[in-house]
Amino acid sequence: MNGLTDIKESVRQREYIDRIAGLVRDRGLKYLVVTFGCQMNERDSEKIAGSLEEMGYTKAMEESEADILVYNTCTVRENAAVRLYGRLGVAKSYKEKNKDMLIAICGCLMQEEHAVEKIKKSYPFVDIIFGTHNIFRFPELLYKRLESSESIADIWECGDRIVEDLPVRRKYDFKMGINIMYGCDNFCTYCKVPYVRGRERSRDPKEIIREIESCVEDGVVEVMLLGQNVNSYGKGLDTKTDFPMLLEEVCRIDGLKRVRFMTSHPKDLSDSLIRVIAENPKIARHIHLPLQAGSDRILKAMNRHYTKEDYISLALRIKQEIEDVSLTSDIMVGFPHETESDVDETIDVIERVRYDGAFTFEYSPRKGTPAAEMEQLDKEYVQKNFDRVLKCVQKVSKEQAKRFEGRTMEVLTEGVDEKDPERFTGRLSQNSVVHYPMEGHKVGDMVRVRLDECMGFYYNGHIVD
Ligand code: SF4
Repeated sequence: MNGLTDIKESVRQREYIDRIAGLVRDRGLKYLVVTFGCQMNERDSEKIAGSLEEMGYTKAMEESEADILVYNTCTVRENAAVRLYGRLGVAKSYKEKNKDMLIAICGCLMQEEHAVEKIKKSYPFVDIIFGTHNIFRFPELLYKRLESSESIADIWECGDRIVEDLPVRRKYDFKMGINIMYGCDNFCTYCKVPYVRGRERSRDPKEIIREIESCVEDGVVEVMLLGQNVNSYGKGLDTKTDFPMLLEEVCRIDGLKRVRFMTSHPKDLSDSLIRVIAENPKIARHIHLPLQAGSDRILKAMNRHYTKEDYISLALRIKQEIEDVSLTSDIMVGFPHETESDVDETIDVIERVRYDGAFTFEYSPRKGTPAAEMEQLDKEYVQKNFDRVLKCVQKVSKEQAKRFEGRTMEVLTEGVDEKDPERFTGRLSQNSVVHYPMEGHKVGDMVRVRLDECMGFYYNGHIVD
């Protein structure tokens, strides 16, 4: 083992992939992976899809066509579980028509005992249940299920292994997400992630660079470095490294045109990171900096480890040092004991920082977290405060959106405009969406576009040679 990297395990799982390939080959079987939740889950789903394709399954367009259906679940919000149970009810009818169909469920929700029990009891037709810590064991679990008719539930309470070199089926040819670390040590009092994803562990920088280089050779031009708190990357590794150093190294990869990252905890965002971003034009001018709340009292109860003024001064420093940067955030309303005046503090931060966008949501208690044990607020009260925050976010970000109108900026072409097959949709480094006529270009091209008109939350423009 190299640090926490488990090479033997990837060899073992590849053997299972080969064995399943022997069973599946030439049978025209299809798979579908349905993902709930965040970009980490999206990336895990790409890994599951990669194994399935290597086994010989091809991607189905609909759940009803799949011979193996995998639900990769989320536990961040209550409604993700409700949505899963709804989907399972429908999946049962597909399975009644296709007796050989297999249904597997994985992801964060499966780390919760009550959810696993509910599935076993109410949805006994589910064939495989596994969690976040043993996701790399999917080929082995599938092989075992194919060899017997017994359902399998294999959940590990914790895990620190990093299994490299398993197949990945990327959703896009030109861009990719890549895990640089797993887990989280922060224990914000409302969040399940440290319980379901385990303690923080970083990948070896050489493995990260090697993986990006090989994808760049395949045509990837944009990479998103993923971690629950990328700013603490490197802790616990034998190699002396940190997130700014990793970013600099990633930027040196020839052929890679844009580097993004997600997510940054404000308490760990260093001045050296700000400097590295400012000095490297390849790094996107976009930082997602979750605020969660503006009141010191609530931030303390959330265990966020920064104050309102710490946050504002960091945000303003970022804006001052990184030209044209766009700042986005997550803002929660309705945390236990939050009053109207606490919400006024949140609104004050939004007005002072002037976000380009913010994901605003109502707090929902997650079983097993400290905040779930606190007295919860009245829903109507929360709704009123939520509306106030949302209105403020929308006003500020609408004003911000206009700021690049008339400028010519680099855009990565991401796909055909859904509303007009003659036009492309692309993204600025700042993450704003732009639509423009194709003019002989193709998806994955970086083009210079004049942003003719701001249409609220996107731009219409044209390519400038
Ligand atoms: S930093 Fe806080 S909110 Fe983010 S994953 Fe970790 S515990 Fe959850």
